[in-house]
Amino acid sequence: MELYKQQQLKLYNSLSNKKEDFKPLIEGFIGMYVCGPTVYSNVHLGNVRTFMSFDLIYRYFKHLGYKVRYVRNITDVGHLENDADTGEDRIAKKARLEQIEPMEVVQRYTVDFHNVLNKFNFLPPSIEPTATGHIIEQIEIIKVIIDKGLAYEVNGSVYFDVLKYNEKEHYGILSRRNIEDSIHNTRELDGQSEKKNPQDFALWKKAQPEHIMRWLSPWSDGFPGWHLECTAMSTKYLGKQFDIHGGGMDLKFPHHECEIAQANASNQQMPVNYWMHTNMLTLNGQKMAKSTGNYILPNDFFTGDSKHLSKVYVPPVVRFFMLQANYRSILDFSDDALLASEKGYYRLMNAVNLLDNLTASKSSTFDVKTWKQNCYDAMNDDFNSPVLIAQLFEGVKFINSVRDGNESLTQEDLSAFKTTINTFVFDVLGLEDATVDDSSDKLSGIVEMLIEMRNEARANKDWTLSDKIRDKLLERGIQLKDGKDGTTFSVN
Ligand SMILES: [Zn+2]
Repeated sequence: MELYKQQQLKLYNSLSNKKEDFKPLIEGFIGMYVCGPTVYSNVHLGNVRTFMSFDLIYRYFKHLGYKVRYVRNITDVGHLENDADTGEDRIAKKARLEQIEPMEVVQRYTVDFHNVLNKFNFLPPSIEPTATGHIIEQIEIIKVIIDKGLAYEVNGSVYFDVLKYNEKEHYGILSRRNIEDSIHNTRELDGQSEKKNPQDFALWKKAQPEHIMRWLSPWSDGFPGWHLECTAMSTKYLGKQFDIHGGGMDLKFPHHECEIAQANASNQQMPVNYWMHTNMLTLNGQKMAKSTGNYILPNDFFTGDSKHLSKVYVPPVVRFFMLQANYRSILDFSDDALLASEKGYYRLMNAVNLLDNLTASKSSTFDVKTWKQNCYDAMNDDFNSPVLIAQLFEGVKFINSVRDGNESLTQEDLSAFKTTINTFVFDVLGLEDATVDDSSDKLSGIVEMLIEMRNEARANKDWTLSDKIRDKLLERGIQLKDGKDGTTFSVN
């Protein structure tokens, strides 16, 4: 029997602000859409946190036996600077500043995005569609919304008529705003005066002559509004109605609110059953901002190249650290917290590795069945990874006691225990074992040994041997340096 039939999962639905029993539209299948990155700069840590939360969710659903179609888009056009309807396209701006093609910007930062996510051991989504690959679908949706009388054209641009929509539907249903508070943060720039009401948002914008990214449409040579791409791609790949839509909580308004309005206007039904939003993160208790220097990029952990870090951290330690907070809580990064997580991570990995060396006994002193259910209960309670990790550490304590001869497990319990801990540590939490990759430690050990042999040769005035060791190492790219405090080496 599929595991999901035994486990009732509850998830927090931002639409109702309640934890609800999860029931997919079609039994055994899940459609999940997550708003992806806008690829105009290196991926932010906040984005990594959001996608890691959905990676955990995706992994757990798969473990339970669901067939999941997970769609996460790449925004490669149409995301204007102030998240509203005016200003310059972020990608076009970067292209102008760096004097390269917008698609070069997109390519560079899409590659960066994938590289960072790979380091953190993310599973790739089932489909990763791009906004520019779905211009036709976006134009089709605009046509339908205009036909329904819920959008209007002015000077080649098309706007969604929020007040008209709100006569029969509720604009603000997700962000709990009333219509007066739903004014988009537009500046007094071109375009604003075209709108009937300040609440309206752009579905299509006519391109100014200097605008590089542009497509033909029935209304003008222009480009789609930012919100439209997600409606187009989620409808195309998941249908008019699907199970889960996720993203960072900063996307609730206006982005997700607009998505609901667009989809509801064109398809005459609410598009999503469960909305899930991840919380933000801070660094040393403060909001991260490039301008204040309180800022860190994902790659900085792996190079240690940041004033906020005392050392280099391996990706699974950072992943483990991030999963120690629930996705709905604020996550605060600090070097001290990372150091503590590093200790915890290696304690966990060492215990997992110890399991193969444990011997079974005639009786068990541990209730493996209850402990296993506790692990599932943690994940079934809105993917509560910190509670799961606390349960795993109960397991670690027990493993260490078995090693010390203070507790025991039968063969059957031992194998159930092993399967459970491996499942949750590697498949669900997605942690990799950094203790396995110790080749650089081994190399250091061997070079140290050769340095010692060279010192002995030098003490014996065996210059031929000492030079031979030095030269042979250099041939292999390892340079020895003799100094006051002895000999050090560098690998070139
Ligand atoms: Zn989106």
